[in-house]
Order: sequence, then structure tokens, then C-alpha cells
Amino acid sequence: MFTANGYYSQLQGNYLFSEIAKRVAVFAAAHPEADIIRMGIGDVTRPLVPAVISAMHRAVDEMGCAETFHGYGPDFGYDFLRSAIVNRDYRSRGIDISMDEVFVSDGAKCDVGNIQELFSADCRVAVMDPVYPVYVDTNVMSGRGGRFANGAYEKIVYMPASADNGFVPELPKDRVDVMYLCFPNNPTGMTLSRAQLKTLVDYAIKNRVLILYDSAYEAYIQEPDAPHSIYEVEGAKECAIEFRSMSKTAGFTGTRCAYTVVPKTLRYADSFGNEVSLNAMWGRRVATKFNGVSYITQRGAEAAYLDEGYREILGVVADYMENARIIRESLSRVGYTVYGGVNAPYIWLKTPGGDSWAFFDELLATHHIVGTPGAGFGRAGEGYFRMTAFATRENTLRAMQRVCGG
Ligand code: PLP
Repeated sequence: MFTANGYYSQLQGNYLFSEIAKRVAVFAAAHPEADIIRMGIGDVTRPLVPAVISAMHRAVDEMGCAETFHGYGPDFGYDFLRSAIVNRDYRSRGIDISMDEVFVSDGAKCDVGNIQELFSADCRVAVMDPVYPVYVDTNVMSGRGGRFANGAYEKIVYMPASADNGFVPELPKDRVDVMYLCFPNNPTGMTLSRAQLKTLVDYAIKNRVLILYDSAYEAYIQEPDAPHSIYEVEGAKECAIEFRSMSKTAGFTGTRCAYTVVPKTLRYADSFGNEVSLNAMWGRRVATKFNGVSYITQRGAEAAYLDEGYREILGVVADYMENARIIRESLSRVGYTVYGGVNAPYIWLKTPGGDSWAFFDELLATHHIVGTPGAGFGRAGEGYFRMTAFATRENTLRAMQRVCGG
């Protein structure tokens, strides 16, 4: 007799973006003349850069010719892309990562969601609060969340990160086995210094904690002292898996390409007491359940890592970061307290009055602007509000003109 996975019933509704959509729809129906500007959803608006488009066109032509056609590709990604990744993202920074530690995928969301298949069932999971919800929900689905009460899952350890602690996640007081970190952070837009990241790596090594380091916004780092990779910190190859995505780096949200680095030095005891390699386990998992990213997409991704394409994508990133600067400085000028937006496309502002949904309603009603209430990212997100730098320049300027005048 079939029994369904009961842990799914512990998931909270996909409340945040559906509630936003509902409130915007109600407002738009009542005010059909309102010109609503959306600065809430984290999707890009600029097209793929020319070098990527040319590479993908060439790849399409290859697919149309028997001599150059590609069927199933290698499970872990074509060597041309894995080596471009290693050279651009690691060797150029003096980090020793080898090609067989890089696994190309169709998205960081899938990878950060699927990685928990490597954890034993009783692993205790720590997440930052506020949090990118995928880390929590995928662990709840597999039974590591427990019951949901008072805005939190009983088995998950939350590490609050707010203005009170400079957005540096508090180290867990209780034992944890796995720790999800996200820097540059979604939703706060904040980064860690190398010294702060080292404290977390040292803690992980000392306590044999596995760090899952989500660095999907790495390309947005502007300040020279912010670490681009956790592997810049000594010892991280003994305790951390890193996730990167082409989505925000190269406008691939709809094209889909990402990668995960699983160092061969990650060796732990499994639930039977055997010593295992996480690199080998992830390889096995990928080979069993995934058939690779399309050749055309991987050629496009490769182009974004080569010199011409890389220059072009950095130009697009710089453009979004100019939006971030406009938002940050405009809001500060009229008295808002703002965080983030320096090394990330997210601006995290303190909501006057504290209630982030009330601020959402007010911003929509008064200025016809949509953002994201911090409460939707967890308890420590209440009192904050997220704005993204991904709108067009024109809409960013119009939105700031409405909120800030002059
Ligand atoms: N990780 C973080 C922190 C994100 O904010 C996002 C997307 O918004 C992702 C991962 C998903 O990336 P991808 O589009 O590669 O699935």
C-alpha cells in the first residue's frame, strides 16, 4: 500500500511570492491606472551578452550537422566548460581546484536542494535567518525539519543575522552537523570579511561541520577585501562545498547553468561508520539522476568565462550595481537605514515602524512600487524590506524619484 511522504505536510505554504502577487493583483484591480514598478523579484532583465549569443548560435549550427552533432554529454559537464570555470574562478585567484572537483548543473537551486541527499537522516542542519528558503524546505521534505511552531522548525538551528550583529551569522549554541551559508547574501545583500569567514571555517573544522557555501552572487562583489570563494580561506577544502550559478552572473536565469565544487579532500564517516568521499558520492548521485546540461548552453556558459564574454558580463553586472548605488544612496538621503547593495544586487532596508508587510502595503499604495517584505525570509527578516537592483535603469530612477523626490 502506498504511503505518501508525510514530511511534505510540514512545509509552510509558498506564502511569500504568492501573497505578494495576490496583494498586487488586488491593488491593480482597484487602481487600473497605476503604473506599478516591480523591484521585488530576483530575476534579471538584461539580455544575454553578444559573446554568449554567438557561441550558442555556433553550437546550434554544430547540432544541425552529423559530423558535429552532440548527443548525451558527460554527466559532470564538458571539459571545455569545467576547465574554463577552474581557470576563471579559481586558478586566477590562486585557488587550487581541479576539474574533477567541478560538477556542472542546470541550476544552483537544484544543487543546493539536492545536496542534502548526501547527509545522513539525523544530521542537524543550521541555516542563517533570514534565509533563502530552499535550504530549509528541502531538509523539511526529507525529515530534518521536525514540526513547525512559532515561525520556526523545531529541529533546524537558526543563526540570526541582523543589524544587531552586523549581519554575521551567530555561531550555533547547540551541536550542528551541516551549516548553510550564503554570501553575498540573499536577501540582506551583505558579505563577510575574510576574517569573519575564517571564524566560521575554523568552527566547522573543529566541530567536523560540513559548510554548504552558496555563492550565487559572487560576480557582484566590488570591494577588494570581500572573499569571492570560501576556498580563499585556509582549511575550507576540508569542510566546504561551494555553489555558483550563471543565473545572476551572466543572465542565465532562463538559460540554466550552474556548478558545484566538491573537493576530493572532503572525507567523512557515513552512517555505517565507513569513511567516504563526498566528491565520489556527489558524482554517483549526479551520474544516477542527471543527464547533463545541453551542449548549446554549456558553449554559451563557456563563452561567458572567456575573455570577451567575461568583459561583457562584468559590464552588465556593473550596470545592475549602478542601480544598486542609486537605490542605496537615494533611500539613505531621505533618511532610510539601508544595508547591502555594495557587493550584491540586493538592498535591505530597515522598515520604519518595523512591520515589513505594512511597509509593503504602504509603498504599493503610495508609490506603486513592489518590494519584498523581510518577514517572508524568516523571523529575523521582520523589520526589513528587500529591493532588487535588477529593474531597468529607467524604472529604478522612476521608482526612486517617486519615493525620494528630487
Ligand atoms: N542561491 C541563491 C542564494 C539564490 O538567490 C538563487 C536564485 O535566486 C539561487 C541559488 C538559484 O540559482 P539558479 O538560478 O542557478 O537555480
